[in-house]
Amino acid sequence: MYPFDYQRPTTLSEALEILRTDVEPRLLAGGQTLLPAMKHRLTAHSTLIDLQAITALCGITVQDTTITIAAMTRHAEVAASADILARIPALSALAGGIADPLVRNMGTLGGSVANNDPAADYPAAVLALGATIHTDRRQIAADAFFTGMFSTALQRDEILTAISFRRPDAAGYFKVPNPASGYVTCGAFVARFGAITRVAINGAGPCVFRDSAAEATLSADFTPDIARTLRFDPEELNEDLHAAKTYRAQILPHVIRRAVIRALA
Ligand SMILES: Cc1cc2nc3c(=O)[nH]c(=O)nc-3n(C[C@H](O)[C@H](O)[C@H](O)COP(=O)(O)OP(=O)(O)OC[C@H]3O[C@@H](n4cnc5c(N)ncnc54)[C@H](O)[C@@H]3O)c2cc1C
Repeated sequence: MYPFDYQRPTTLSEALEILRTDVEPRLLAGGQTLLPAMKHRLTAHSTLIDLQAITALCGITVQDTTITIAAMTRHAEVAASADILARIPALSALAGGIADPLVRNMGTLGGSVANNDPAADYPAAVLALGATIHTDRRQIAADAFFTGMFSTALQRDEILTAISFRRPDAAGYFKVPNPASGYVTCGAFVARFGAITRVAINGAGPCVFRDSAAEATLSADFTPDIARTLRFDPEELNEDLHAAKTYRAQILPHVIRRAVIRALA
């Protein structure tokens, strides 16, 4: 690990001030991605700005039809929240299925979504549920937030503060995990709002994406069996040491089918 300074601000404005003025600063949330990268000397920073003491970045708030989860909320807290379980059980299940207890007790919603790993779980929920991403200065619609592999609409000096999720009529998430890490090889989050179904696919492409054909098909007929008829072009999917693109194309209809079964359960 290269040497760095460490700051632990207690307010958002203090964190923003360091972020704006330091040479090569980086926000530290749960450290589950950032610290391994630094240990491997893949990245170096002048100052780590630890967000853990900023109380404004913690907590789960329930409004009428939305749930707002602050950025520093841990995966384990989301999984254990009775409020979330009662309103968006698919989100609880997703959080409870991330990696292992160690990662879930440290990893945060904000860190996961800001990092936008193509194999991460949360981006699929954020996109399928049409969530709103709040930052220190604006609100960003999920459809405009994920811009590419490990890249988002966040500016270099911008802090993700919370995410608001609309309550769907039904939602389900299913992933084929990498057996070693738990990261997604191929996953789908489906969310039904009235007669409209949104489908977000993760792990299969360079960035989480919505599939318009799957959405049209499931909007017309929200049943598991119709998902079997979906087809995916392997040339648009990822190929890596975990899975061939043809494999991903082949299993995606079944992954979506299982997500629909969960949504209807
Ligand atoms: C062994 C292992 C297995 C894992 N398996 C899975 C898995 O199965 N599924 C899954 O989804 N994830 C998995 N993860 C990732 C984990 O869930 C974390 O969510 C992820 O590492 C990022 O969250 P973090 O809070 O640790 O962020 P950090 O590592 O602290 O930060 C990640 C990045 O986000 C930036 N950032 C953090 N917070 C903010 C903010 N509020 N505003 C702006 N930028 C911010 C940081 O500067 C950094 O660039 C795994 C991690 C490990 C170590």
